[in-house]
Amino acid sequence: MLDKVLIANRGEIALRILRACKELGIKTVAVHSVVDRDLMHVKLADESVCIGPNPSPQSYLNVPALIAACEVTDATAIHPGYGFLAENADFAEQVEQSGFVFIGPKADVIRLMGDKVSAIQAMKKAGVPTVPGSDGPLTDDNDRTLEIARRIGYPVIIKAAAGGGGRGMRVVKTEAALLNAIYVTQSEAKAAFGDATVYLEKFLENPRHVEIQVLADGQGNAIHLGDRDCSLQRRHQKVLEEAPAPGIPEDIRQRVAESCVNACKVIGYRGAGTFEFLYENGEFYFIEMNTRVQVEHPVTEMVTGIDIIREQLLIAGGQPLSITQEDVVIKGHAFECRINAEDAKTFMPSPGLVKHYHAPGGLGIRIDSHLYSGYTVPPNYDSMIGKVIAYGDDREIALNRMRQALDELLIDGIRTNIALQKDLVRDEGFRIGGVNIHYLEKKLGM
Ligand code: ADP
Repeated sequence: MLDKVLIANRGEIALRILRACKELGIKTVAVHSVVDRDLMHVKLADESVCIGPNPSPQSYLNVPALIAACEVTDATAIHPGYGFLAENADFAEQVEQSGFVFIGPKADVIRLMGDKVSAIQAMKKAGVPTVPGSDGPLTDDNDRTLEIARRIGYPVIIKAAAGGGGRGMRVVKTEAALLNAIYVTQSEAKAAFGDATVYLEKFLENPRHVEIQVLADGQGNAIHLGDRDCSLQRRHQKVLEEAPAPGIPEDIRQRVAESCVNACKVIGYRGAGTFEFLYENGEFYFIEMNTRVQVEHPVTEMVTGIDIIREQLLIAGGQPLSITQEDVVIKGHAFECRINAEDAKTFMPSPGLVKHYHAPGGLGIRIDSHLYSGYTVPPNYDSMIGKVIAYGDDREIALNRMRQALDELLIDGIRTNIALQKDLVRDEGFRIGGVNIHYLEKKLGM
């Protein structure tokens, strides 16, 4: 069992990790930037260390400061949360080389899955369904590239191997535009990621975003915790998620989930992870793996009763998985609405003082948030300030509870996207279920 965990993150996920540690009797170290000293988890942690000024490169991304904080507090492990350094293979390596446990997969696995080309190749080999594509980097043999695109059929999408966060992608509709688009994407990728490698795949026109949650212990055991639908997105940012994904035939769901479990075993995966897919016309297409806990993990926790962060901590402590696939039973339905400090119409960030905060409650309602009355949302970081999660025996009950919860939620002093979420949970298309990834942007007139 881990003795003392340093939480290398902030906000709601830092608090979430702190709660799981406390439950397991693990001591906690909070690290924070100057402006973040009033974060709720900093107050609740056993110890706290200020690791630097507000800009994240000098604090939450400051590797020497994080390792030094581990050393001075005698922490035994680092939980990276999501974002920041969570998928940085070099960081994971440095943590382990400094004698601490990185709560996540081994550095070489993060590296393998962080490069989209090597990830797709590894997944294909393991039997995970992928998007028809170039199956490797594009070369300067233009005839071959044109031939590949013709075989796949237009439209195609060019993607940077090192891309992330929705950047480094370009859709091409006609052969005439292909070569120039490749050239531009390569130049952009070189400038943005320091790696000009690009590849090509079929552009799916109206897919849904469906993902599979996995847990693996790095000792040969792996299981899946079912799926989530995260199709409601704006600019590739998820807004509202649910589990399970509605309307997916059970045999198809089962087959893709089993392929993910197999892939975990093949690549020696350790910890919690997510296989992201596009789903169209009854087919799953792998797009990427997130080698960390995700923002939307609570919806899976609600329908399985499994505490994913607790499992991460136990696995990192060297314990084999305590749950078998037979133990995992998906029951009921859950939604998650992300609450952001931003204008509900213009999406402009709205940091500032939260004069008054009132959280909703009742059966099946869960709030993961670090907010409290009198807390000031700083302008320096991501605008997400919390998540409202609603669970029910079926989708309709869960959705009804979410509507009530959003009506009860009160955040006074800053602007938030609550009005948008209230609108979404009353949207007729969303109520029916199974909308695609363009639905929200179309609704917003984008
Ligand atoms: P990132 O790592 O930047 O998030 P992803 O590979 O996960 O990149 O893709 C981000 C988003 O881009 C997807 O959620 C989807 O909306 C869109 N996308 C990616 N690949 C395709 C594709 N082959 N067809 C259609 N849309 C795609």
